[in-house]
Order: sequence, then C-alpha cells, then structure tokens
Amino acid sequence: MTEEIAAKIARRIRVEGPLTVAAYMAMALHDPDGGYYATRDPIGARGDFTTAPEISQIFGELIGLWCVELWRRMGQPDPVILAELGPGRGVLMSDALRAASIVPEFRRAVRIQLAEASPKLRVEQEKRLGDAGPEWITRVEDLPDGPMLLIANEFLDALPIRQFVRGNREWSERRVGLDIDGDLAFVDGPESTASALLVPASLRASTPGTLVEICPAAIALAAWLGARLRRWPGAALFIDYGNSFSAPGPTLQAVFRHRPVGALAMPGDADLSAHVDFAAFAEAAGRGGAEIHGPVAQGLFLARLGAWRRLAALAARAAPGQRIALEAGLARLMKPGEMGELFKVIALVSPGLPPPPGFERDCRYGATDQHPSDDHPRSS
Ligand code: SAH
Repeated sequence: MTEEIAAKIARRIRVEGPLTVAAYMAMALHDPDGGYYATRDPIGARGDFTTAPEISQIFGELIGLWCVELWRRMGQPDPVILAELGPGRGVLMSDALRAASIVPEFRRAVRIQLAEASPKLRVEQEKRLGDAGPEWITRVEDLPDGPMLLIANEFLDALPIRQFVRGNREWSERRVGLDIDGDLAFVDGPESTASALLVPASLRASTPGTLVEICPAAIALAAWLGARLRRWPGAALFIDYGNSFSAPGPTLQAVFRHRPVGALAMPGDADLSAHVDFAAFAEAAGRGGAEIHGPVAQGLFLARLGAWRRLAALAARAAPGQRIALEAGLARLMKPGEMGELFKVIALVSPGLPPPPGFERDCRYGATDQHPSDDHPRSS
C-alpha cells in the first residue's frame, strides 16, 4: 500500500509542485485508494497506537456521566444530539452509553451522531453501537440542528497541519516535494509576508530557524462550534495531547506499530498526528461565541470526575488479576509522566451554562492545570 500512495503523492507533486504539509497529511491519512484511515483499523495493541478508552473503561464511563450532568443543566432537552467526532472503534461511546443508562430519560432522549471519515472504522462502530441506532456523517457541518452534546478524543491531533519556518527576514511555508532521487523530502518555500500572517501573533517574532505549526481545520471547527453553541444550547468536550499555549517546535509525528518513524517514510502505512494548540483552538471557539473552560490536565479532570472512586467500586467486584489491570489502566491515564499531563481536556459550552464538572475551581482558560498534583496521587 505504501508504494501506491507514495507514488500517487509524487505524481501530484510533479503536476502541482510541492504540497503543503496539510495536503500531504490529508492524502496520507484519507486517500480512498491507500490512505491510512481509509484502509485499516489502526487502534489497539495489534495496531499502531492505543487510546484512553481502549486502556480503561473508566474513561468513557466518566465522560458519559459528564454528558448526563450537562444535559440536566441544559434543562433536559428531548431530543438531544449526542455527537462524537472520530469515534475510532466505538469504545468510548459504548462505555459512555452504558454509564449513562442509569438515567433512562437521558438514554431515551439521545440521538447519536458519529462523524467518521474511515469506512473501516464505521464497520467497527456499527458492531459496538449498532443497537443504539447511530447515524453517520462525514463532515461536522452536517450535524442536524438542535441541542447537542459533543465529545471527541484524539480527533484534533489527526487534523492536517501546516508548518512555517522563520527565515532571516520573514516566514516561509515548509512543503513536501521530491529530492533528486524522486523521494519525498521537505522543502522550504520563499519567505513572504503572507506566510508570516498565518503564524500566531505571539510567535511571529521568533528567532530564525524556528518552526511553527498551525491547524486550519481545527481553527475552522472551533469557530463553527462556537457559533453553533451560541445558537443552540450544548457543550463540546475535546481531549487530546498538546499545549495550553501556542508553542514553537515541530510536533508532526508518524507512528507505525507503536514506534516512531519518519514523517515522510511510510505514507498510508504510518499514523500521522500533531500536538493540538489549545490556545488557538480556545480563541477561535471563544470568538465564535462559546464559553471556554480549560484546558485542564487529563489526570486532574478525571480525578475531579471521581475516577479513583469509580476504580475502587470496580475493583471491589473484580477478580485479583482484573483488579491489577484496572488499576494499571487508570494509572496510565492519570499519571503525569504518562497520559495525565500531556493530555488535556477543554470544554466549549453555550453562554450562560455554569462551569462543567471537572472545570469548577480554576475554570477560565489561562489559569489552569498548574497544580494537578494537589488532586491525585502522583505515584499509584
Ligand atoms: N476517538 C477514538 C479514535 C481516535 S483515532 C479513540 O479515542 O479511540 C482518530 C479518529 O478520527 C479515527 O476514528 C479516524 O478515522 C477519525 N478521523 C480522522 N480524521 C477525520 C476527519 N477529518 N473526519 C472524520 N473523522 C476523522
């Protein structure tokens, strides 16, 4: 598969010239003939990477209860859309629905919408969620109108990014071209004021050689959701790895079977992703019209939602081997050195709703996640 998609990318470069990193990423991930997501289920121990819902059922359960609480605060609209972006194998939604079934009125009111680009993963989602009667959409803009709760774990990191490099005078866009052997290679375009304007203002004065990434698709999504949340009551919860503040540095990464590989080495066969710039995302959503809470560190967020209590309840009923697995799974999601701190959680809510669960104390953007160790044990 690699050969085919790499050849297709090379053909396009010969016709159009070097591609933006975003165009390369979009082809490598989604090309119908050999794109990464188009052709496989990459998630889990036998795939290329694993995700929080695959590591611990507690993740999805707590998010399900978070949705129920938000629904209550919204005045219990019936129907209410429960949307997920990039649901992977459907595990998060399935755990969330199981936990939420303690409030039957919520379960009855919910209409599930799944935004998924990958035909392969849609099949996996159908297996786990078919009984709940979900509808699939390809583009977020196709979500029906109405009150909505939206969740997305590790969706934003898969959206294509562009890269800009600071030259001696201005910024230039880094692109994907061909070297003299015809292999894919990064090439820097001409320095221009137009490129400089795409770099976040806070980073524009960086020293020569600095690389900055932007994610136009994430910004567009945030702005769209912000406007929608001003119009229709609701909330959106995004969990992903990334920075609370716009930071320089390349974060584009390729992963094949849980190992890093070169970003241009295996298009179609390696996963491609980049850190999320939560500051840029929050700013766009806020300008669209939503109120922003967080980002807070994932470990702190889960602790505030009662992850340790949920673990104790599950462990009390589990066989010894299961108990160890439950503890290890949750620790991986919560420990600062693992997924507890690099992963962050941000909520966009309709104006007027109180701070959602998990964001209560230091709720406003910018004043967050500085002391996560206060709330959960560092070594468990
Ligand atoms: N949320 C899941 C899967 C994360 S992997 C989990 O936590 O396990 C990223 C998911 O986003 C996959 O389901 C992938 O197919 C989907 N995806 C990536 N880019 C997309 C796009 N542009 N539109 C819709 N879905 C996309």
